[in-house]
Amino acid sequence: MRIVRSALSIVYISVMVISMPDSRRNKRLVFAGGGHAHLYSLARTGKLVRRGFDVTLVDRSPYLYYSGMATGVISGVYAPDEHRIDLRRLVEEGGGKFVEGRITEIRAKSKELVLETGEEIRYDAASFCLGSEIPWDGLAEDETGVVRVKPIENTNEIRRRLLAFDGDRAPRVLVVGGGAAGCEVAANTLALLDRLGLEGDLTVVHEGESLLPSAPKRARAQILRSLRERGAKVLASTLVTHLGDGVARTDNGREIPYDLSVLSVGVSPPGVFRASGLPTGDNGGLWVDRHLRSIGDERLFGGGDCVSFRGEALPKLGVFAVRQGPVIFRNLQAVLRHEPLEEYRPQKRFLYVLNLGDGDGLAVYGPFAWRGKLAWKLKNRIDEKFVEEYR
Ligand SMILES: Cc1cc2nc3c(=O)[nH]c(=O)nc-3n(C[C@H](O)[C@H](O)[C@H](O)COP(=O)(O)OP(=O)(O)OC[C@H]3O[C@@H](n4cnc5c(N)ncnc54)[C@H](O)[C@@H]3O)c2cc1C
Repeated sequence: MRIVRSALSIVYISVMVISMPDSRRNKRLVFAGGGHAHLYSLARTGKLVRRGFDVTLVDRSPYLYYSGMATGVISGVYAPDEHRIDLRRLVEEGGGKFVEGRITEIRAKSKELVLETGEEIRYDAASFCLGSEIPWDGLAEDETGVVRVKPIENTNEIRRRLLAFDGDRAPRVLVVGGGAAGCEVAANTLALLDRLGLEGDLTVVHEGESLLPSAPKRARAQILRSLRERGAKVLASTLVTHLGDGVARTDNGREIPYDLSVLSVGVSPPGVFRASGLPTGDNGGLWVDRHLRSIGDERLFGGGDCVSFRGEALPKLGVFAVRQGPVIFRNLQAVLRHEPLEEYRPQKRFLYVLNLGDGDGLAVYGPFAWRGKLAWKLKNRIDEKFVEEYR
């Protein structure tokens, strides 16, 4: 009799749970990707839980690698895990849930995210910070001898491969791309080779007329000088068209042999937004309005490299993503409480400091640029403080 009664009560409880009206259960906030623009919210999971939200983070990895310190890992300025933020701990300590998995589809109508495994995660409001990718685009035959700078943790792999190089000469390194990431990779690779006592053979190939094309003239001249002084070859206005069998082929007929090629070109948002039928900018980033809200669905938000802000791509820099964090935090709550949303205003000027790996930094702020030890110390202090906040 007792067994029958307890079985009945189990049935009763499960019926109650299934039929609980929407207004009575906690609202579900889902963070898709634990990128830089979500750190602010994830560190405040406890606050969200106390306010009555169920918080879930879905990420393909339990760790986020902070980009500001990533290239310093190549030269050995930082240890491989020094820039690692434990996302799982961040969200679970606050009473939220961490789901490890890759998001492959967004079903906005039924308010679900679908993972590679087929698992479905339901939300009442969700925000995306999935970063960006470097597609192969037929450039490289396969990954032999080639590493992409994204995901960020790949800088660990660059160092590992350089240290593991087993030849009777220094490894020949080819960096494809002359933006900030490519220049930092080149500078820190030169620093590592120097520390190992190896005569570096490093070439940077870039499509534009100068390195750091969007930086002021002085910064462009400084980075070129820094790399050349340390023995790098820099090939401007050159497009790499094919990588394979240890040889890069270019549009102007050159053949450049390499032992390791680092791809730092063509950063673009993941294809999941377009594939899910959400409105995107030309580059495929989730089109968000001035509130960082998708123009296709009022319950979806996003920040960082994966969004297209009012149809335009903002510079692909962590400093933008970080500034979006508090806006996402407040707007996710506001939309579920039917409160007015906060506006995000991208900074017009921002400080960007390149780690040159040799104890110098190259700081760029608007039209100003300066290179030296002080710039590096400033960067180091800002970055270490940032990571410390989330560790
Ligand atoms: C080498 C290098 C150095 C850089 N240095 C600087 C710098 O010094 N300062 C600066 O401001 N910017 C720097 N940047 C740029 C910076 O990395 C990016 O702008 C920044 O990482 C953007 O962060 P995000 O928040 O958009 O995404 P990310 O920080 O890249 O995070 C994306 C997250 O989403 C997860 N994810 C991705 N796809 C999926 C999926 N399908 N399912 C589940 N989870 C997923 C990832 O695991 C990751 O945790 C650098 C970039 C590179 C490549």
